[in-house]
Order: sequence, then structure tokens, then C-alpha cells
Amino acid sequence: MLTDKIALVTGAGRGIGRAVAKMLASQGAYVYLNYHGSEAAAQEAVAEILKSGGKAEAVQCDVSDFKACGEMIQMIIQKSGRLDILVNNAGITRDGLLMKMSEEDYDKVLDINLKGTFHTIRHASRYLLKQRSGRIINITSVSGVLGNAGQANYSASKAGVIGLTKSAARELASRGICVNAVAPGYVKTDMTDALPDQVKEQMLSQIPLGRAAKPEEIAGVVLFLASEQSAYMTGQVLCVDGGMAM
Ligand code: NAP
Repeated sequence: MLTDKIALVTGAGRGIGRAVAKMLASQGAYVYLNYHGSEAAAQEAVAEILKSGGKAEAVQCDVSDFKACGEMIQMIIQKSGRLDILVNNAGITRDGLLMKMSEEDYDKVLDINLKGTFHTIRHASRYLLKQRSGRIINITSVSGVLGNAGQANYSASKAGVIGLTKSAARELASRGICVNAVAPGYVKTDMTDALPDQVKEQMLSQIPLGRAAKPEEIAGVVLFLASEQSAYMTGQVLCVDGGMAM
């Protein structure tokens, strides 16, 4: 389905990004797995993809670094000649109540989640525009759709990703480039494993389907947005949240 497509997934060593990378590779894409600190995890994910007959390699880059993102995209273009699918998945949380939130925690979350997404789109778009094709899929969150007490920084960053997605979709549509977002609810990963049990229980109580998602359930929707089956969709936010934001 994605044979000969070149994909970049940010934050792909762990969690949702890793599941996305594996799913795109299972459909024939050559996948660049970006990581920041988790080199061993990224190399392990690459090894799993290669073992199952897929094509992949790991690439280190801090997505909050504008210049480094440019170098990462340029390296991919030099090696593979093109980029077809860009998945902006890298993200962090620094939760806390608004009145106690430090400026540093606010900026850090915005720098990685929102500016990081801008950085890769900014650098990739010149190549996608020349190709007159491409898919950009940004991972946002239900927190960006609904807001969430204790996550002012994270919710602001993810709402920003939604605005960025829609503006990029409008700018790039005439050149055949589709830009969409996926908004997961509660997914079982390192990010949510770190939450106190009480917060997990409270989140579960708000999910009509009554359970957390597996990373693969988010990856399946990303695959759909990367595939021909979604060719007439752009500027959309698909909530994959067990019904949280209906
Ligand atoms: P995770 O398990 O904590 O993984 C986060 C990933 O982001 C890691 O691969 C990490 O890479 C990468 N990352 C962090 N800072 C980075 C940076 N500066 N440059 C490059 N990569 C960086 O989180 P997850 O749950 O899989 O989350 C993935 C995405 O889904 C995030 O955008 C998150 O906000 C979103 N999301 C998650 C949930 C959920 O319930 N889990 C819900 C809604 C949305 P390294 O380990 O290499 O640093």
C-alpha cells in the first residue's frame, strides 16, 4: 500500500511513534525513525522492522532545534531523493496547575510540541511543494480540543498544532499536499504510565469505550491518513479517543 514511499516519524523510538513507524514500514514504506534521547529504543525498533522484512533507519534530532530539523530533512532528501509522509509525533508533558506553572515548563512544552511541528513542516514543505504531493500528519490530543485542568501548557501546544494543521492544509492543498491531525485520548505509553493511579482512573471514567487505547490503534488511523484511501481529506482532526470528545 505504501511501497516506495519515504516516511519520517518524529519521536519514533517509543510509544505511539514507534507503533506508527512499524505500521508504515509494514505497508512497504522506507521509514526514518527520529529519536532525541532514546537511541537504544530507536535502534531496537529499526531492528524489529528490518527483521520483519521492512526498511528503516534511525535519525537523531531534537525537534525543538530549527536548524537540526533542517539538517535532518536535508539528509533524508539527499539519501532517498524525496519525502512522502511526515508524521509529527514527538511530544512531552510538564503538567501542573496554571497558577504554579513555571515559565520554563510552559516554554519547554510549546518548544517541542508546537514549534517542533512547525520546524519539520517548514523544512519539509519546500520539497513537498516541488514534488506536488505529500502527506503531513500531526499528532495533537483531546487536551487540545477540550482543554484539561493541569495541562495548560500541553493543551495550548496541542490546540496550536490544530491551528497549524488547518493553516498548512489551506496553504499546501493546491499542490496536492494533505495535512491532517490525529487527536488521541488516553493511550497506554510511557507518557501516561507515569501518571498517578487516581488520574488514570479519572481519565478512564471519561471514556465511553471504557478503556485506554493501544498505540497500534492510533497508528492505524495515521496509516489511513498516509494512504490513498484518505486522498480527499485535508485540514481534519480525527479524534481517536474512545468517544471522549464526541
Ligand atoms: P512517549 O511514550 O512519552 O514518547 C514521546 C516521544 O517523543 C519519544 O519517542 C521521545 O523521544 C519523543 N520526543 C520528546 N522530545 C523530543 C524532542 N525534543 N525531539 C525529538 N523527539 C522527542 O509519548 P507517547 O504517549 O507515545 O506520545 C506521542 C505523541 O502522542 C505525543 O505528541 C503526545 O503528546 C501525543 N499524545 C499521547 C497521548 C497518550 O495518552 N499517550 C494522548 C494524546 C496525545 P526520545 O525518547 O528519543 O527522547
